[in-house]
Amino acid sequence: MNAYLEKVLKETREKNASQPEFCQTIEEVLTSLEPVIERHPEYEKVDLLGRMVEPERIFSFRVAWEDDNGNWHTNRGYRCQFNGAIGPYKGGLRFRGNVTEGMIKFLGFEQTFKNSLTGLPIGGGKGGSDFDPAGKSDAEIMRFCQAYMSTLYKYIGPDVDVPAGDIGVGAREIGFLYGAYRHLKSVFENGVLTGKGLSYGGSLIRPEATGYGAIYYLQEVLAHENDTIVGKRIGVSGYGNVSWGIIKKAVELGAVCCYISGSDGYVHDPEGINTDEKIEYLLEMREKHTGVKAYADKYGCEFYPGEKIWGVKDVDIFMPAATQNEVDMEEAKQIVESGVKYYIEVSNMPTTNEAIAYLKENGVIVAPSKAVNAGGVAVSALEMSQNSERLSWTAEEVDQKLHGIMKNIHKISVEAAEEYGLGYDLIAGANIAGFQKVADAMMAQGVF
Ligand code: NDP
Repeated sequence: MNAYLEKVLKETREKNASQPEFCQTIEEVLTSLEPVIERHPEYEKVDLLGRMVEPERIFSFRVAWEDDNGNWHTNRGYRCQFNGAIGPYKGGLRFRGNVTEGMIKFLGFEQTFKNSLTGLPIGGGKGGSDFDPAGKSDAEIMRFCQAYMSTLYKYIGPDVDVPAGDIGVGAREIGFLYGAYRHLKSVFENGVLTGKGLSYGGSLIRPEATGYGAIYYLQEVLAHENDTIVGKRIGVSGYGNVSWGIIKKAVELGAVCCYISGSDGYVHDPEGINTDEKIEYLLEMREKHTGVKAYADKYGCEFYPGEKIWGVKDVDIFMPAATQNEVDMEEAKQIVESGVKYYIEVSNMPTTNEAIAYLKENGVIVAPSKAVNAGGVAVSALEMSQNSERLSWTAEEVDQKLHGIMKNIHKISVEAAEEYGLGYDLIAGANIAGFQKVADAMMAQGVF
């Protein structure tokens, strides 16, 4: 391995030994940058990689809030402003009990590359809290969001850092967060957050964007293989916002989504989640954190408690869309055994590095999440443009732009991999294409 790359990897592992998810993403990305680093010795002179793996700023803060019974709770909030070389920091907030600093850092690093791939002027950031919204009332969620924003508002702004939703943060939470920001700052600066409701500056298609974008990307992969989405059977993990968008668009284009999962197990609907009523019920399940068993109970399907979908044999495409590290070696072996040709990552880093290598070695086409799920942040950036220009584009206009962006992400990834003689390697291609723009901007701006 290139000596400079090896040095940065070693130092990153040492410095971040207690943050395995962060080390995992750094390893995955830097390894695929090797041919680029070889071609550009000037990067080492200014320690470009060493600077790139260190967030520009990361901080945690106390969030104290009162529950409905008058008891006080204290959670930890985070914001990571990872890289602002190509635009204001941009990335979601995750509210879930398992959130740690290492998780926020890995997500912020991934976000930097993803945002670059969109071709839009947005830097990388991420934030969240170890607060778990499951089982909380609307009033408790509102009080938590207000407490969270009472610190965060000092460090964000439409040209500074623009948070959005992620796991546990949807339109309801963004509404409470924006209300608190407006109250604290006494300005109508709605470009400070994306994923807003339509009545105060949200963009049409934003709720669907990540899922729609994933399907548009999938269509490009299928076209590359002279294949089509019509009639394909898809297994999706998760039943949240992203899974909902995937299913909505896949069904519209003639595919059948017959598996969904949650923390409680998975559900098999042999006919597919194929009616508006079934698809919209997913949103209700997400808001109420019901688990997927609720779907099985309502529609009379089989529920497999505690199990994951990766061993099922009757699908053509897997789309992990729940959380990180859903697929390790054991699951990768099941996927290969099932004979599935397409593995399209959608959730952030759903696959361990070892599992990715195994899938690729065994002929599965793997598409990386930082490219596949970039449609969400792309439409968030379009929401920022509409806010700053006081415009409201139609659903068709936004959808058309999203489609164009996803096609382009696939195209530039393919071209980047080909430029370095790597063939149809979507992972390396996305890493290289995402890296190049950020690297150029950092080189131009001098060392700091
Ligand atoms: P939601 O909160 O809407 O849904 C998350 C889903 O994942 C739920 O079905 C949840 O099931 C499941 N899940 C979450 N954590 C775990 C866990 N630890 N183990 C098992 N299941 C889990 O989130 P989104 O749909 O918005 O996000 C899904 C993924 O997509 C995340 O990785 C996110 O970072 C990524 N992403 C999202 C974007 C967006 O626009 N929303 C944009 C880009 C990426 P249960 O509630 O039963 O635990």
